[in-house]
Amino acid sequence: ETIQVTTGTGSYDIHIGEGCVTSLLNDEMQGFLQQRRWAVITDEKVGACYSQLISHLSTAVVTVITLPAGESSKTMEQAAIVLEALAAAGITREDGLMALGGGVVGDITGFCAAIYMRGISWLQIPTTLLAQVDSSVGGKTGVNLRAGKNLAGSFYPPSGVWIDPLFLKTLPEAEFWSGCSEVVKYGLIEGPSLREWLVFHWEKIAARDPRVMTTLIAKCLQSKAAIVTADEREAGLRKVLNVGHTAGHAIEKLMAYRITHGAALREGMLLELKMARELRWLLPEQYNEMKVLVERLPVLATIPEWMPDELVAAMKGDKKNRHQQISFMLPRGQGNEEIRFIAEGIEEKLMTPEETTAL
Ligand code: NAD
Ligand code: ZN
Repeated sequence: ETIQVTTGTGSYDIHIGEGCVTSLLNDEMQGFLQQRRWAVITDEKVGACYSQLISHLSTAVVTVITLPAGESSKTMEQAAIVLEALAAAGITREDGLMALGGGVVGDITGFCAAIYMRGISWLQIPTTLLAQVDSSVGGKTGVNLRAGKNLAGSFYPPSGVWIDPLFLKTLPEAEFWSGCSEVVKYGLIEGPSLREWLVFHWEKIAARDPRVMTTLIAKCLQSKAAIVTADEREAGLRKVLNVGHTAGHAIEKLMAYRITHGAALREGMLLELKMARELRWLLPEQYNEMKVLVERLPVLATIPEWMPDELVAAMKGDKKNRHQQISFMLPRGQGNEEIRFIAEGIEEKLMTPEETTAL
């Protein structure tokens, strides 16, 4: 299956298929790779798991750069190491970067592609569910700063995205369910028919059935591609992708980033659904139907019951805040709508030093 994304800077295709990368026999993929020379960027875990695949991927691969696994690699320092390694390997503007890994590898590779020789072409091969349904599409690239996450970066879409659900076989349980939280988020955005589909296929999803996962990834990306095609820079519509995320990010922060993004998002979605119910933006039966879907996600982290003021305090550094207001994107009836709350002291600093060391 192919989905097209069009942005201000051009358009690219997303290819989704069982074995489209891992089988190595896919002519379409091989043809695409033969167009230029590639530097593969990966992390230690993916590199170890798929060393055979990487060494046989293509004769067009000229160098492999391996980062330490995990969020702590998404820094300016690591980006500098990648850029120096590209130069040392003789990578030129005619060549390309290939991100083989999760969202961390994708974000830093895209960032390096945007600035290396003022921009070279790049390709995404996402290997986590989160990266396959979310971060590999939309053109956002970047690294974390000490003051907060994703504070340096650019919009720099890849020239292609190749998604193979067979990569999910080796994904640790916690990472798989973290990505599933984003899948459920698309359910809250898109409406009852996607939610029904997810509930109906839940056992096969949990078993990572490649056929069902292919369809699931395509459904999620059709949603994301339509949204980012209409609003790449998040002027309006793209904000719907933030459902559950204002509360989710606050929870992630209060847990000092010791839990996965998806574990925090699960609890964030439940909290924001409650808000929508209190506001009477959802009928009781709509609330219940959505809550039941979110609660299918296993509880991956036990979190304390925070007081509202603790949560609000954690929301003050949110990048989405404007004019002393915290913004939430909540489900409303069959759609979603933004609501803003005034909170004093929002222009405080983005993160405390203790929070930044936890990153
Ligand atoms: P990640 O890249 O750290 O991957 C999670 C872990 O899984 C890592 O340890 C990795 O080595 C391992 N792994 C990856 N693929 C594997 C596989 N197939 N088998 C076994 N292990 C595997 O994390 P993530 O959850 O993929 O991405 C999170 C990042 O994505 C965050 O930095 C976040 O800011 C970013 N993000 C970006 C966007 C965007 O639009 N650019 C959107 C959402 C999230
Ligand atoms: Zn998210």
